[in-house]
Parts: sequence; C-alpha cells; structure tokens
Amino acid sequence: MKLARYGAAGQEKPALVDAAGRLRDLSGHVEDIAGEVLSPGSLARLARLDPDTLPPVEGDVRLGAPVGRVGKFIGVGLNYSDHAAEAGMKLPKDPILFSKATSSIAGPNDDVLLPDYALKADWEVELAVVIGTPARQVSAARALEYVAGYCVCNDLSERAFQLETSGQWLKGKGLDGFGPLGPYLVTPDEAGDVQALDLFLDLNGERTQTGNTSRMVFSVAEIIAETSRYMTLLPGDVITTGTPPGVGMGRKPQRFLRPGDEMRLGVAGLGEQRQRVVRRED
Ligand code: ZN
Repeated sequence: MKLARYGAAGQEKPALVDAAGRLRDLSGHVEDIAGEVLSPGSLARLARLDPDTLPPVEGDVRLGAPVGRVGKFIGVGLNYSDHAAEAGMKLPKDPILFSKATSSIAGPNDDVLLPDYALKADWEVELAVVIGTPARQVSAARALEYVAGYCVCNDLSERAFQLETSGQWLKGKGLDGFGPLGPYLVTPDEAGDVQALDLFLDLNGERTQTGNTSRMVFSVAEIIAETSRYMTLLPGDVITTGTPPGVGMGRKPQRFLRPGDEMRLGVAGLGEQRQRVVRRED
C-alpha cells in the first residue's frame, strides 16, 4: 500500500494511491497519516479498503510529506562506505546518529529555499524509514516489525554550518525545507527487500548519485535496533539512513547548490522527488 498526504502545507489530507497511481482521499477513514494511524492494525484496516469506494483527488495537487506530526527526525551519518571515503572520513564502528529539525520537513516537490548566507548546501538521496510501533531496546532480528513504511528523503545539508561551526551537525541539517519526504509512504509488504534498493539523484539532468542500499554499513534493522537502545522510537518518528556517494562536497572541485538548480531523486519502488532551488527572500 502507498499512502500520501496532499494539499497546502500544514493542511494536508490523507490519501492512498490506487493501482492506477491515482490519489484517493482517506479523510472519511482517518484524520491524518500520523501517530496511531501508523500502527499495524490501523494500516491493515486501510489495506482492506476498496480504493474504488474512496473519492478520487481531482486536479494537480501539492504533495506534502507522507507522514504528519513527526516527533523525531533522525539521520544516520556515513552509512555507505564509498560516501565516507569521498567525505574523507573514517567508517564509524557504530551508527552515527544526528538530529534534523522537524521544521525542515517538506513536501517531495517543494522548492528548496536557500538563505543568501547558505553557500555550501548539498544534496543527499536516502531511504527513510517511518516507525509504526513504539520501539525500545529491540533486537535487529525483530526491528523491521516496528516499521510502518519507507519513503524517499533528500537529507539536504549545509556543509559549512554542519562542519565549520561549533557543536553538532544539527545546524547544517535543520534549515527550513532541508528534509523533503515522499512522495509516498510505502508499506513494508510493498517495499520488498529494503537492503536491495537502487537510489539515484540527478542535478540539472546529470546523474550525480548512484547507489544501492545493499552497500549500507549498518542495515535498516541494525539502525533501528541501535537507535532504540538510546531512546524510545514512537509512531511517526522518521530515520533517514544515510547517503551513497556523489554529493557535492565529495566532488573535485566541490559543487554546492545555487538558485536555479534542479534535483530529481528517487529510490526504487518508493517514487521520485523533484526540487527547484530558489533564493529565500528574507
Ligand atoms: Zn544524510
């Protein structure tokens, strides 16, 4: 099952995607794709609905992030060995976890707004996982049972704020709009083997990132298990699981985002995002 949220930012409505790829409104059944709606029982109920009985969503609508009321938005650093190499950093012995601000969450095709002091904004296509069941100290063997679904994430990162300021990576990872999610939340039965998914990102039509989740240093299950040692994961929490090589920081010469740039990125089976980079007026 593919779930989505559509409408103006902050006022998104829930929908599911039918076999023809058309959005069907779920407002008559759930208030939002968030919280308890992500539990296995609730998702099973939605999966039993006949999409033909749901009102089709007409017109060209904006898609929001496919999950609402995200409580924690956690990133994983250096989780592909070839990306760690291009970043000139050593492979971690356990997953590097960092925070992204939940206010960075955006729709999959929203413009990316760059403040004029953000000179080193960079792209990172990633597989993100959305938690559906509270998870505390879970084993890797059972960790995937706590997953509601998967989506594409562009873990946009301002490298100067991330690496050249004091403290944590948060400053470079939390800008407004630096966390596009979606287009869909794809449930595990439909996502298939999440350690065998191709990822790509094109910048202005040129392929810049290519990867496969089989190259992760720590698997999705290991990441959930490890994270759940340090905090209870709750329904609606999002973990984005790291990026393959090909980011702007790793290029010679380095290349960072500028107004006018266009990104297209995707993960096999989870859909694609498109973003335009625009100067933020403030
Ligand atoms: Zn990342």
